[in-house]
Amino acid sequence: AKRAGRGTCRFFQTEMDSRLRARAALEADLRGAIERGEVMPYYQPVMALADGRVVGYEALARWQHPTRGMIAPDEFIPIAEDLGLIDMLSVRILHQACIAARDWPPDATLSINISPIQLKDPWLSARLLAVLSETGFAPGRLIVEVTENAIIEDIDAVSELFRSLQRTGIRIALDDFGKGYSSLSHLRQLRFNHLKIDSSFVRTMDSAESRKIVRAVAGLGRALGMPVTAEGVETPAAAEALREMGCEQAQGFFYGRPRPVADPAPRAAEQRSD
Ligand code: C2E
Ligand code: CA
Ligand code: CA
Ligand code: CA
Repeated sequence: AKRAGRGTCRFFQTEMDSRLRARAALEADLRGAIERGEVMPYYQPVMALADGRVVGYEALARWQHPTRGMIAPDEFIPIAEDLGLIDMLSVRILHQACIAARDWPPDATLSINISPIQLKDPWLSARLLAVLSETGFAPGRLIVEVTENAIIEDIDAVSELFRSLQRTGIRIALDDFGKGYSSLSHLRQLRFNHLKIDSSFVRTMDSAESRKIVRAVAGLGRALGMPVTAEGVETPAAAEALREMGCEQAQGFFYGRPRPVADPAPRAAEQRSD
């Protein structure tokens, strides 16, 4: 038993070593990659459920690594946060997306993700606005998506940041609502413009419990005057259920996956036979 124990320990040791080495390699590459534009946005359509039209696109970061291939944001965003590179990354993503948006319909919105730690950056608003004016992208077309993890820490500061962004016309969406740290008190204390229901509820809508939760969140959004977007719509049944519930917007593989160039004509949100 003793020998086996030691073996297991050694196994974990090597596995951890190799993970640490992999992370160290990405860490070493990331700054240069951002500067060279290897970290780029992909675009996923956001659909209006009522009429099946594209409302806009969410920019989702991808790292096109020259030797490792495509790296997902869940792998490098935490590293960017730890290394203090997340501000630079966001600015680069926003810049590329604003340029790409010149080919979109003139009223299409652009949604970008920012990390909770960026809410502590006193220059966030100035950084974003600088990119918008540089690229000529109207603030009224930008939606900033935030998750709640860190918002709690200084609610007054975040509330003030939100107001300053909103004064310029930028909108703010509460992302991943229902997952992890989400709390209703944030909805009372902070003014969001949009609510995004976490995909974990939407993807499991064949269960009655999930469906009830999604319906209730759609109702909550309506009551609070915030259009609700359902994420993770993968099936026509989910799309139809959401439309019937009065959920305003939807995103998911059913309509279109994130792509390097925004798809002008993703699958219609509504497919009626009549
Ligand atoms: P998120 O903001 O919640 O983005 C939605 C994620 O769900 C995306 O994963 C998207 O590709 C995926 N997705 C979309 N439709 C479906 C579907 O129908 N089914 C399933 N199973 N998944 C779907 P992705 O692109 O890997 O991004 C993961 C997370 O990384 C994002 O979650 C966001 O939190 C973060 N992220 C991405 N880009 C950025 C960025 O530029 N800055 C920051 N700070 N975070 C980012
Ligand atoms: Ca998002
Ligand atoms: Ca989300
Ligand atoms: Ca997320």
